[in-house]
Amino acid sequence: MLCNTLGVASMKISARNLDVYRTDLVELRTDDEPRLAEITLAASHTALTRVLEQFDLELKQRVLVLCYASSEELTKHLGAFASHDALGAYWKGAVMVVSPSATPSGGLAHYGLLVHELTHLVLDYSTRGNYPRWFSEALAQYNEYLASGYALPQPASADLYEFGEFSERFGSLDDTAVAYSQAFLLVSHMAEQYGWDSMIRLVHLLGTGVRFEKGVEQVYGKSIESLDDAWRRAIEGTGVLVGE
Ligand SMILES: [Zn+2]
Repeated sequence: MLCNTLGVASMKISARNLDVYRTDLVELRTDDEPRLAEITLAASHTALTRVLEQFDLELKQRVLVLCYASSEELTKHLGAFASHDALGAYWKGAVMVVSPSATPSGGLAHYGLLVHELTHLVLDYSTRGNYPRWFSEALAQYNEYLASGYALPQPASADLYEFGEFSERFGSLDDTAVAYSQAFLLVSHMAEQYGWDSMIRLVHLLGTGVRFEKGVEQVYGKSIESLDDAWRRAIEGTGVLVGE
């Protein structure tokens, strides 16, 4: 989605006139009524704790979560950077989400949304931006799926992008849903066939500055292209890779 390597100190998004709520991990700024704000604060704290534990990481500062009353409000604050997914964004070191009252499918979906955006943030912070954009979107979706059960519909094999085009032009491909779903399926394959410990090792290697392709070969003993081949073959064999 809207990944960036700048930290909270460089935030330029207007967060004035919003009420502030804090835990030891999260600073929430919102114009929601206190009852909803407390729900978002607790969900953000739980979601961040979950993501940090997943990657065996700690953060040195509180994470800023901005919560807006509606998708329109969120999009207005993102301005020219608004993406297809107007329920949440990760932007310049902060997570932006809509209120639980504006999340169509309820509390679990809102929690999944927070897990998604906080995964972008934790990956970005811990690697200082050292990852391909599709990988961040893939991890965010995979973690959201684990947290809430939500995943995009699986695309038809005929609609899939070649890996080269997918990885080089991820942010500008015409069919965003297919690109996002491909990213999800590739990381699901890596996580489910090789175990989560390998994913943690890869993320930690990226944090030391190792290039993504090199890190993948070091951890998985295969190139990212051959891991990509494998999930495509699995789909051709079974029709379904994840979710059943
Ligand atoms: Zn995302």
